[in-house]
Amino acid sequence: MSDYDLTMPADAGVIAPDGWERDPASGRPRPPRRPFKARGSFVVRCEGCRLPTLNCLCPYKATAESQAHFWLLTHPLEHNKPTNTGRLIGDILATTELFTWYRTAPDERLLALLEDARYAPFIVFPDDQPDYAERVVEVDAVHAAKGDGFIPVFIILDGTWRQARRMFRKSPYLERLPVLPLRSARLTRYHLRKPASAAHLCTAEVAAELLRQSGDKTAAATLDDYFDAFNDSYAASRRHHKIEEPTPAMRRLLEKRRVASWKLQD
Ligand SMILES: [Zn+2]
Repeated sequence: MSDYDLTMPADAGVIAPDGWERDPASGRPRPPRRPFKARGSFVVRCEGCRLPTLNCLCPYKATAESQAHFWLLTHPLEHNKPTNTGRLIGDILATTELFTWYRTAPDERLLALLEDARYAPFIVFPDDQPDYAERVVEVDAVHAAKGDGFIPVFIILDGTWRQARRMFRKSPYLERLPVLPLRSARLTRYHLRKPASAAHLCTAEVAAELLRQSGDKTAAATLDDYFDAFNDSYAASRRHHKIEEPTPAMRRLLEKRRVASWKLQD
């Protein structure tokens, strides 16, 4: 349900409120057109987490360590969306690298990292097209890379499904990388955007599943908790509701932060 729904008078003959126009087709009164604004763009946001300040996420920003790293290649249109979950990965895992995808100008730093022999990068993408079937690997390839002393890297294309497909197809520097499809029965818990299907996971959920399957269980659990805290905080703010009692995921994150600060003091 939109925050902006205005009750439309049922009868076209009623007198329109001040400032209302009439629909040229039906003659019904309608509210004046407003310039397009992204949903919630007038909301006061925290500068740290970019969530509405009503339920700021900053107190729950815990950190974790993982053997696998993430390099996020984010579509420019996705970058500034406050509902983007890709950025949550970098909050939890300090080794995360963020790049903006431009079709004609690949990021020089990403190109350099792709040449770095310490890493074993995998491009995370579905295996639903036959023309790159020979590049498809399973998660055991990630375990094998670890066993051989490499740092496995999950390259995630962060954008809508269409954007991700375009990024996959239009990035020659990704063409030689093994393709790792995420195999998971998990259903999405993301409720800030409507997914095409419950099997479509958002970026942070994909990352948590990859961590879990490749053996970074603690990092996976922390990222999952942080994602849940983000999801619940954001959704509550949309309902103008302040969360007074931390959820179980929030409590676990607070505890992690307490333990981390004790370690710093030792
Ligand atoms: Zn904040």
